[in-house]
Amino acid sequence: METTIFKVGTATVVKVPELELKDFTLSQLLPALDPKVVEKHPDWIDCRTYDIKTARVHLSVHTWVIRHLGEVILIDTGVGNDKDRPGLKVLDHLNNPFLQRLAQAGVQPEEVDYILLTHIHADHVGWNTFWNGDKWIPTFPNATVICSEWEWRYGVALTAVDEDAAAAIRADAEIGDPVRLPTPGVFRDSMMPIEEAGRLRRVVANGSEVLEGIRFISSPGHSVDHASISLVSNGEEAVFGVLASSIGLQPRRHRLGARAPDSGLLPVIGSGQ
Ligand SMILES: [Zn+2]
Repeated sequence: METTIFKVGTATVVKVPELELKDFTLSQLLPALDPKVVEKHPDWIDCRTYDIKTARVHLSVHTWVIRHLGEVILIDTGVGNDKDRPGLKVLDHLNNPFLQRLAQAGVQPEEVDYILLTHIHADHVGWNTFWNGDKWIPTFPNATVICSEWEWRYGVALTAVDEDAAAAIRADAEIGDPVRLPTPGVFRDSMMPIEEAGRLRRVVANGSEVLEGIRFISSPGHSVDHASISLVSNGEEAVFGVLASSIGLQPRRHRLGARAPDSGLLPVIGSGQ
């Protein structure tokens, strides 16, 4: 696995990989997608993320490390080690040297100031916490974890098995019935300990700045209130989010895509599934 470095204005962005997944079919990830669309539009396919010959999607699970205005910011925190994910064997009880890779990128856990979550799924929030032999505790003890208010409320409702509350949130989000629900246990082991430690900040993903130069842009569809995260520095902008959700699958408000800088549109940096 390799680490990639970008510049966005005066900010630096480093990709720290956790794992690669290469065995998903397109229909597993995008159940509503008509396969004929792929046959009709081969030019839409990015060979780095989809192998037409094997009909398998290549996914990267990783964290983005941003150094911006003197602060260390992570976007999404991967799967984590030792997490109990019996329904998702490829993510179950991993033992990856992710923190060593983070250290190679120059980041010690206590140096992280903020963690920004695009959404609350098993492969995006896992390293929020680690098992200390007794319980799940924050991996990054000084970091404030920022997530969408709706994503949080949805996790609370599902964890409490409050189907009425969950259905009401889905109705508000205008995304219809879910194909599947978030993986059980993720919210309890990777989000609730953050709140219990007083390290959680919930925001409305309405495009307002949550930190200087950083905005949460609501882009639901992949999850109940998925946020695409915009970083602006010195006149340049990058948007981090779920690339699979950026190809016409977001039902309202936003369609994002990778474009050339001189087109006036934004580059999109995918953050996995
Ligand atoms: Zn996801």
